[in-house]
Amino acid sequence: MRKIKTMIEPFKIKMVEPIKQTTEEYRREVLKNAKFNLFNVKAEDVLIDLLTDSGTSAMSSMQWAEIMNGDESYAGARSFFAFEKEVKNLTGLKHIIPTHQGRAAEKILFSIIGGKGKTVISNTHFDTTRANVEYSGCKALDLVIPEGKQASLDHPFKGNMDISALEKAITEIGASNIPVVIMTITNNAGGGQPVSMENIKATKKVCEKHGIPMFIDACRFAENAFFIKKREKGYQDKTPLEISKEMFSYCDGATMSAKKDALVNIGGFLALNNDELAQQARNMLILTEGFHTYGGLAGRDLAAMAQGLKEVVDESYLAYRIRSTEYVGEKLTEKGVPIILPPGGHAIFVDAAAMLPHIPKDQYPAQALACELYAMGGIRGVEIGSAMMDRDPETKKNRPAPMELVRLAIPRRVYTQSHMDYVIEILDIVNKEKNSIRGLKMIYEAPVLRHFTAKFEQV
Ligand SMILES: *Cc1c(COP(=O)(O)O)cnc(C)c1O
Repeated sequence: MRKIKTMIEPFKIKMVEPIKQTTEEYRREVLKNAKFNLFNVKAEDVLIDLLTDSGTSAMSSMQWAEIMNGDESYAGARSFFAFEKEVKNLTGLKHIIPTHQGRAAEKILFSIIGGKGKTVISNTHFDTTRANVEYSGCKALDLVIPEGKQASLDHPFKGNMDISALEKAITEIGASNIPVVIMTITNNAGGGQPVSMENIKATKKVCEKHGIPMFIDACRFAENAFFIKKREKGYQDKTPLEISKEMFSYCDGATMSAKKDALVNIGGFLALNNDELAQQARNMLILTEGFHTYGGLAGRDLAAMAQGLKEVVDESYLAYRIRSTEYVGEKLTEKGVPIILPPGGHAIFVDAAAMLPHIPKDQYPAQALACELYAMGGIRGVEIGSAMMDRDPETKKNRPAPMELVRLAIPRRVYTQSHMDYVIEILDIVNKEKNSIRGLKMIYEAPVLRHFTAKFEQV
């Protein structure tokens, strides 16, 4: 058989949403009015919105059909059983509890198993996971492999858990003080760096030896499965669904934001095997989310999730998804735009400190770059650097960010290759004209999570 090189989007477009065209002059004015904070820019003034891949997926015609088909009964809705069947088939877990998004599942889980004097260990806690762990009074410890912290170091599984550090931490902290170990797949920090099957197995083995349950933060499980297929020996001939099932076979429970790999705009779940814990979780669910056959969602949302979970493990979809992120990374690297390598599954990180050495750290180089991308091309990314870091709660000093990055997260099935070629061209122009980019001064900040509402002016 002939090998055809061009990869096409594995879908055709049935419904379109127009993008409002704006000029650079208009956007510079918008930016000034938004106080150089892209969270203050109206979505309709954005051409290509790469703020997040969360809840921004395009649903398929089949998912929209399921929306119409949703059963809105309060208890025991048909849509719940379709959803439950799909999640059980995927995870093999016994109790499936729907929630309105990922953090609701986390809040329920950690308010039961967290608490003072305990520590949760993860390869890397996602922000909301860490926040919910810490809110319960528990500590959150990240133990990703050292390679995972080096921006341009090539490694196939930069999201892996550091197994010897895990062993050591368990010995020091004591297994009875560790309610759970969480594997985040893919590892969101770093743009969706995958975790290998070998590492999931090794983590489970350590947990089992010490009687600690292992949970999976499953937001991007399908993307992780595809990386395993491509990069790990012995998985080339397995389907993404088979690989996903094997990953889940090692866990005792999972939390998921369906706004990622279930291809929906809202939804999530908590799934687990332990009967007593499930009982407590359902009681808490009724208190905060709703009855356990809808969990804060409409019946149609459950129906769309069930369909999305079937679609996301489709191999041609995943090949397109992972390749399109990689393609952007390749082209940017060819053009000399500094990014974190290798690209993860759902986002590209541009290294603003490397691109803009003339802007000192205290003038927010990544925020300045994010603003320039918007002004030049109407592209909205997000700063992950000094502005996002907040001040130290005790010393009130700015906390140093390990890196100054702009994240470009790619929504699922939303943009075509020409949209991405446009993004590449704009980044190339911005990189060539980088000497004209000016630093920023923060003129207003909230006491916590300041990046959402901070105001800046150009220096
Ligand atoms: C998005 C995300 C969450 C939280 O989910 P929400 O639906 O935003 O509440 C948790 N973990 C990871 C890895 C995520 O990417």
